[in-house]
Amino acid sequence: MYAHLHRMQRFGLHEDPLAPPGPHLRGPLCIGAASSGAVRGSCLYVNPASVGIVTAPANVFERLRSGSATVSRPETLDAFEWHDGSTTAAVRQTITIGRKIYAVTLPAAAVVRSSNLPTTEQLAVALRAVPIAQRELNDTLIACPVPDPDSRPHRTVAARAGRGEITFFPMRSAQTQTDIDNRVMHETGHNYQETLWRSGDDVAEWTAVIAADARRPSPYSGENSGEDFCEFFVIYVTSLGTRCESAARRLYANRWGKIARYGRS
Ligand SMILES: [Zn+2]
Repeated sequence: MYAHLHRMQRFGLHEDPLAPPGPHLRGPLCIGAASSGAVRGSCLYVNPASVGIVTAPANVFERLRSGSATVSRPETLDAFEWHDGSTTAAVRQTITIGRKIYAVTLPAAAVVRSSNLPTTEQLAVALRAVPIAQRELNDTLIACPVPDPDSRPHRTVAARAGRGEITFFPMRSAQTQTDIDNRVMHETGHNYQETLWRSGDDVAEWTAVIAADARRPSPYSGENSGEDFCEFFVIYVTSLGTRCESAARRLYANRWGKIARYGRS
């Protein structure tokens, strides 16, 4: 039942490649870090990225982690149906942070390693950096051994999110905790965004702040309004309350005001 539900729900989820998007995704609004000259030093990551995706450094996630996470002992599932209909043995674990329990499904440990998938422990660490209000919008995490059908040789779909679920896909290279921290933060942004945008008017309000800021956090944010929201969400959460906040507010004044209003509503 669960597997069936998983397979049905994956349609329409947001896909997120790790590989830097091609030049065709760089819209006229994209201003590279070099040209903005806005921020230096450890706040450099809040500048519009010149390639790929927003990538905050390790120390900002360390600062954000709150609560303690408990990871349950692995429970073996004899058969779990992945999104393509294939079935393998799998492992089910839970992560408990505060009163919230997150269900995790992943393949056998050897497959997790060979596919560069996140472990449950790495996901627990990453979730602890997500603000509680957004963290608790997530219910289910799946480390899937089968590549996303939209992955291509030059463009690996790293994750998808939607309806409280986040699915991670095999990667060609080893992933650091910081890679996973950035990815989990971006994906939780999608599950947050879904609760905020109920109509075309809601989306249009975000499109308006994109236009008003006249720059994009990263080339990948040019894919659509949802990706822009999630790319900015990473910058917002990681810079809020730090010495990087004033720079981020200056660069993305309209997005900053809008996301702060979301937080108050
Ligand atoms: Zn995304």
